[in-house]
Amino acid sequence: MILSESGWNDFFEEQFLRWSGSGLVPGRVVGEAGYIYEVETGTGRFNAQVSGHFQYIAAGRADYPAVGDWVLLRGESDLLIVERVLDRKSLFSRLAAGKRIDEQVIASNIDIMFIVASLEGGRNFTQRGIERYIVMVNDGGAEPVIILNKCDLCSETEREDFITMARSVAGDIPVLMVSAKTGEGMEQVRGLLSTGVTAAFTGPSGAGKSALINNLLGRDVQRTGALREDDLRGRHTTTRRELFHLESGAMVIDTPGLRELRPYGDTESLDAAFTEIAEAAEGCRFSDCSHTDEPGCAVLQLVSEGAIEYERYQNYITIRNEMNNLEMMKSEKGRLERKARDKAISKLVKNYYKDHER
Ligand code: GDP
Ligand code: ZN
Repeated sequence: MILSESGWNDFFEEQFLRWSGSGLVPGRVVGEAGYIYEVETGTGRFNAQVSGHFQYIAAGRADYPAVGDWVLLRGESDLLIVERVLDRKSLFSRLAAGKRIDEQVIASNIDIMFIVASLEGGRNFTQRGIERYIVMVNDGGAEPVIILNKCDLCSETEREDFITMARSVAGDIPVLMVSAKTGEGMEQVRGLLSTGVTAAFTGPSGAGKSALINNLLGRDVQRTGALREDDLRGRHTTTRRELFHLESGAMVIDTPGLRELRPYGDTESLDAAFTEIAEAAEGCRFSDCSHTDEPGCAVLQLVSEGAIEYERYQNYITIRNEMNNLEMMKSEKGRLERKARDKAISKLVKNYYKDHER
């Protein structure tokens, strides 16, 4: 396996150079099951686990490897050791709520994210939904491309209407119309998938993501395949493959979390999806205008004049509020963690004095 065919490029090479002489080899995470990873290196496919040192220095779940990651590995046997995750070019994460709220990376180093909407009578296609997905893809740092799937179910005029509606929210983002079923238009998708490119699909359930991936692979994706029955310790481990190689040399990441992304991140990605609102905001009287009820708000002015579509404006506010709520949850988590840490430290100090008084 030549690394460049797996998406290795200067961005990763530069980081790797710092480790030259360390004996570590680069590999890409193609599957994950619990804390066992499947990795591809220049010499083959192996199972891997993070080292003890890795666990020790990891600040949270987000530091752990995810599908798509480039990692540096040690060892030659069947179970390699992950010593480091190289910086990610793009990453999609979610807040995993549990006892503590933790950011969990779902997949990384995705170049193109296809946003899939389906045209079956329009039920699975809304401009508001597409806007929302555009924000999330911007957020992750991948290139968004819109796929309008199931065009086989539409008449010529319906197709034109859908394309017009999609383009009106897409901005510069390409809009492709295809049918995963008949294969119509799929050459436009394939045209974007050249050697070394990593793509993924997101969009509402039922839009046809699996059908599109199967069409590209020319076979049905094995979602639950058992790959390695035993590792060095003789334990039974089954990693689920989530990164697939296409014949073209491109790759597709298909992992459940990517199918249900939520807006999460900074307002820059929001502004990139709603450029006319971001531009208008520069004319607001207050620099911290929330565009909801302030006097001198240029956004509200344009909405009232109809120059900014009201539904689009509403969606902007809704997504922004959702993002702010997640941010608040995150900082709440930070506060609780700091509190726990301070408590632990004060206990250590107390014990130290107790021990030394004697
Ligand atoms: P996912 O939830 O996004 O992965 O959607 P699926 O790939 O499971 O597709 C949902 C349903 O739509 C399935 O019954 C597919 O057979 C059907 N489907 C997918 N793509 C097309 C298409 O291009 N045309 C038609 N007519 N049906 C499709
Ligand atoms: Zn304003």
